Amino acid sequence: MKRVKVLVIGAGVVGLSTAVCIAETLVCCSVTIIAEKFSPDTTSDGAAGILFASEFPDVPLGRQQRWFKETIDHLLAIAHSPHASDAGVFLCSGCQIFKEVPCDKKPFWSDFVLGFRNMTHQEMKRFPDHKFGQTFTTIKCECVRYLPWLEKRFREAGGQIRCEKITGLQKAAQMYDVIVNCSGLGSRLLAKDEEVYPIRGQILKVDAPWLKNFIRDGDGKTYIYPGMGYVTLGGTRQADDWRLEVDEEDGDGIMERCSQLEPSLRKAQVIGRWVGLRPGRTNPRVEREYLYAEGRRVPLVHNYGHGGWGITLSWGTALDALDLVRQSLFEKPPQARL
Ligand SMILES: Cc1cc2nc3c(=O)[nH]c(=O)nc-3n(C[C@H](O)[C@H](O)[C@H](O)COP(=O)(O)OP(=O)(O)OC[C@H]3O[C@@H](n4cnc5c(N)ncnc54)[C@H](O)[C@@H]3O)c2cc1C
Repeated sequence: MKRVKVLVIGAGVVGLSTAVCIAETLVCCSVTIIAEKFSPDTTSDGAAGILFASEFPDVPLGRQQRWFKETIDHLLAIAHSPHASDAGVFLCSGCQIFKEVPCDKKPFWSDFVLGFRNMTHQEMKRFPDHKFGQTFTTIKCECVRYLPWLEKRFREAGGQIRCEKITGLQKAAQMYDVIVNCSGLGSRLLAKDEEVYPIRGQILKVDAPWLKNFIRDGDGKTYIYPGMGYVTLGGTRQADDWRLEVDEEDGDGIMERCSQLEPSLRKAQVIGRWVGLRPGRTNPRVEREYLYAEGRRVPLVHNYGHGGWGITLSWGTALDALDLVRQSLFEKPPQARL
């Protein structure tokens, strides 16, 4: 029987998660990923990969909670399995601290991480410039391992992979029955979506194996995330800044701010620097529209614009994209190409 040809554009954490969900669930589909860049060269590869989120203004809170819960449940299962090390997924404990007491003391994801509680007066003594803190255990998902692990899972489910830049969705619609756009910041051009913009993030990688717990300032700009091979120090959030070069001043600022939180970092050796552009958008776009090509109506499912939370929401939004693909097949079986 002719199989439905599905194209997933993008091989970052969003594209690979979505492609795995479709390939493993919809056996009537043959799924191909086409991407310009693969691991280790995507934005996802450089992200610290801490599961954590802030709220998007116009996405119903219940939907955001589901995205978070589905992702953390999926990654917790990996962290507790023999795949944990290969997949680069593990539990990570630490705290988020605030200079002023936040209005919302119980973020929407607090029930899904483990052991969330406010810090005691005694614990806060370590951070004299901060008034309030929360401590919890979450997941760290290191994409340099996780993406190849997902890619292998995708191939095992029969998926095909091609390295290529897609220059137009219309042209792709002539060759596929369903298109899933997970091109992140690339959607600005590909989907002609000017709402997508870069949020530049610079980090330092340091050798500080004595640090085991993460520390994040609630302003989102300063963080210390111990990982498998190094500790990530961040960061910057520079909207509409397309520079991919390392900025020395940014690097000095990161080291200074992180050392104020954790003075032992002054002894740490810097072993790497990295810059990535988050796919910023007021709200992620996870929805369906249609393209028309050669007399056929081709469903186009979008899944992009996750900003600073693409890893955190990857599996949850992938499951929504899967549902949209499934609905497209159910509503009207696409005319498979001859
Ligand atoms: C410094 C920094 C720290 C971060 N820390 C975290 C964190 O701790 N937790 C968290 O959840 N998130 C974090 N993020 C955010 C996270 O990295 C992003 O949200 C996530 O990587 C987005 O994934 P993506 O798959 O949408 O995009 P990407 O990883 O950018 O992948 C996009 C894919 O689309 C492809 N593509 C684009 N255009 C085309 C085209 N025309 N044709 C073919 N292929 C195309 C690309 O080649 C690539 O394969 C951080 C980001 C930065 C910069």
